[in-house]
Amino acid sequence: MKEHFMHPIEINFRKVKCLNCSEETDPRLAIPECHLEAESFHPETYKTHIYNLILTHPNNLERYHTDSLETYHPGSYTYIHPGRPIDSQIDLNFAQCFIRAITFGGINPMTPGYWSCCRKDLSSNGCEKVRSCCQKDDKGCSNRYKCCDGALHHKGCEKRYRCCDEFRTSKGCQYIYDVCKHKAGEQPCCAVCKKCNQTIEKKGCAMRCRNCKEPQTKKGCIKVAHNFDFS
Ligand SMILES: [Zn+2]
Ligand SMILES: [Zn+2]
Ligand SMILES: [Zn+2]
Ligand SMILES: [Zn+2]
Ligand SMILES: [Zn+2]
Ligand SMILES: [Zn+2]
Ligand SMILES: [Zn+2]
Ligand SMILES: [Zn+2]
Repeated sequence: MKEHFMHPIEINFRKVKCLNCSEETDPRLAIPECHLEAESFHPETYKTHIYNLILTHPNNLERYHTDSLETYHPGSYTYIHPGRPIDSQIDLNFAQCFIRAITFGGINPMTPGYWSCCRKDLSSNGCEKVRSCCQKDDKGCSNRYKCCDGALHHKGCEKRYRCCDEFRTSKGCQYIYDVCKHKAGEQPCCAVCKKCNQTIEKKGCAMRCRNCKEPQTKKGCIKVAHNFDFS
């Protein structure tokens, strides 16, 4: 009895730490609850667009003319007879007929051809100044653009952006996000972690229990075997 008092029965008590929960005790004395295996997650997220705002044009360049259409004549000046050629032997102009009769002597009904407009010889130069393109001399018979002399169907001598009518040198008329392409001010499209700055689709930067979603440093949540570290 004395001997027993001096040398108590040795209980081989060994403290072991569970890798999945806060339990740190002899496995025989451990509570029955532990956590399920860990999953990664992002502890704090916020909604945003990715990543940088850039200035851009939503529409393409289009060709256009910087000035309006004008009418003109593509042809040069020339001289014509606007009248019809009279080739008839009978001259209805009595005065001329009379003069001719004298000139040629006797009764000669043959009269040389002439133009009805000016009564000049058929081989004479025209009596009216007109344009060769349209035989007229008014405002113009064709259209062209004042800016470049381009014809009516010419697409354009300059380029501008369809969205804002700005020149091709313009950097942009609208801010968008370079990766997600959303406009500035639109509803944020993706969730990002405050802690690691990664989108939530990427692997989490913290770990938690797959069952209770709490850190594994807390007391177990489900009846499952501990993961004691005996090493
Ligand atoms: Zn445990
Ligand atoms: Zn748990
Ligand atoms: Zn994170
Ligand atoms: Zn976005
Ligand atoms: Zn634009
Ligand atoms: Zn033009
Ligand atoms: Zn003309
Ligand atoms: Zn004439």
